[in-house]
Amino acid sequence: QDDQFKKVISHAKEYGYVFQSSEIYDGLSAVYDYAQNGAELKKNIRDYWWKAMVQMNENIVGIDAAIFMHPTTWKASGHVDAFNDPLIDNKDSKKRYRADVLIEDYCAKIEAKIDKEVAKAAKRFGDAFNKEEFVSTNGRVVGYQEKINAILSRMAKSLENEDLADVKALIEELEIADPLTGSKNWTDVKQFNLMFGTKLGASAESAMDLYLRPETAQGIFVNFLNVQKTSRQKIPFGIAQTGKAFRNEIVARQFIFRMREFEQMEMQFFIKPGTQVEWYNYWKETRMKWHLSLGMGAENYRFHDHEKLAHYADAAADIEFKFPFGFKELEGIHSRTDFDLKAHEEYSGKKLQYFDHEENKSYTPYVLETSIGLDRMFLAVFSNSLQEEELENGTTRTVLKLPSVLAPVKAAILPLVKKDGLPEVARKIVDELKWDFNIIYDEKDAVGRRYRRQDANGTPFCITVDHDTLIDNTVTIRHRDTMEQQRVKIEELRAIIKQEVDV
Ligand code: ATP
Repeated sequence: QDDQFKKVISHAKEYGYVFQSSEIYDGLSAVYDYAQNGAELKKNIRDYWWKAMVQMNENIVGIDAAIFMHPTTWKASGHVDAFNDPLIDNKDSKKRYRADVLIEDYCAKIEAKIDKEVAKAAKRFGDAFNKEEFVSTNGRVVGYQEKINAILSRMAKSLENEDLADVKALIEELEIADPLTGSKNWTDVKQFNLMFGTKLGASAESAMDLYLRPETAQGIFVNFLNVQKTSRQKIPFGIAQTGKAFRNEIVARQFIFRMREFEQMEMQFFIKPGTQVEWYNYWKETRMKWHLSLGMGAENYRFHDHEKLAHYADAAADIEFKFPFGFKELEGIHSRTDFDLKAHEEYSGKKLQYFDHEENKSYTPYVLETSIGLDRMFLAVFSNSLQEEELENGTTRTVLKLPSVLAPVKAAILPLVKKDGLPEVARKIVDELKWDFNIIYDEKDAVGRRYRRQDANGTPFCITVDHDTLIDNTVTIRHRDTMEQQRVKIEELRAIIKQEVDV
């Protein structure tokens, strides 16, 4: 698992997807830059989301609110008082950790034991193996599961009651050690606010304290009435937005899974109070379908329904994805009630109500939110696509099987040799196709090596121009995943590519 994750990170660098930020100055922890291919992949994921949410739904509109917001926004939203992580320091190593993450990692180790037992039994019983039955009846597995449940529910309760001493006690009882040094010498647990502060204004006296937004959602809430009136939408309707968010994350060792500067794709759906259960289920299902439409394997997704709810929610679930380091949150679906709009009404003194003509009355709408991290989605797609395949001739090839709709480069145009007029014909094909697709031209090295390079780059098609092309205007088109080659007319290329890369 660790090895696979290391391969993902080095492949992302080698093929121009993701670089450490400010690398020449030894980098900045948990901050990353997207390179030439990464920027395209990220844009394609964003477009795929935007198309599904905004373009395909008459009752969802998109906005682009500013990162800076009036500081009172964050009082109203609860972020000033409650957007904290419980931190603990190790006295020997002087390293700082999130207390909840230490405990969760401990539970993940127990979970790995369950997986091992299941795998062993599956081998032993063969076809007759029933996983659910085994997990619910095998004494050892049941014991592990009960232990995990007891730990997590005690932690949830302590955090909810702000009983930080008990969180520390739990870490000590479980004898959790510093993962780097093995030391068990812990400080008390303290709450730490995750927002980045900054200042607006030139002089020290008149400067105003601001925060970099820790989520995009509040830009939607404060604009709710402006958008509703100018778009003349009726409830139920949604407002979508993509954009940067900033969190001073402490646990920052999982590449682009957890960043300090990241991008969110959020949608707030405004509904009639009382209809939230129905819409919660609708959006859970709809968002899962969106993920599955990319064809990355249903077995890689699962729902995780929250028992411990944030202060603003009456129901919440995550869509978890199987990352190289296990199942983790990819997207959240939250039933936020009227918490946010009511809080903004209270703090701003302005009404944020909707007049319902059918009911002939005004009310503060309830909200359903879908919130996904663009960078986390990038990691899901990228890590899932990176594969090593054994070929029939005994060699292996590295191939990045990105969903074609998301691939940064859709086709590479390759002249077989650098002479006899082949480069000119290949350039002409590039000039024709580049109006519709991101295309590259490559004439360096033997064609087999160029194929491999494009496989590793995730390019769905390679199109080779050879001497026959000069005679009959046909080219060879090679498919990345099957490595199959077809002979087709140049004028057919656009339709062939379009069929595969269009949604
Ligand atoms: P986590 O529990 O992993 O910290 P969260 O529950 O705080 O995440 P939300 O506040 O619900 O996350 O944010 C919605 C989405 O934004 C998450 O599902 C995730 O995809 C993304 N996200 C949150 N924090 C980060 C981060 N630091 N880096 C990258 N993506 C993030």
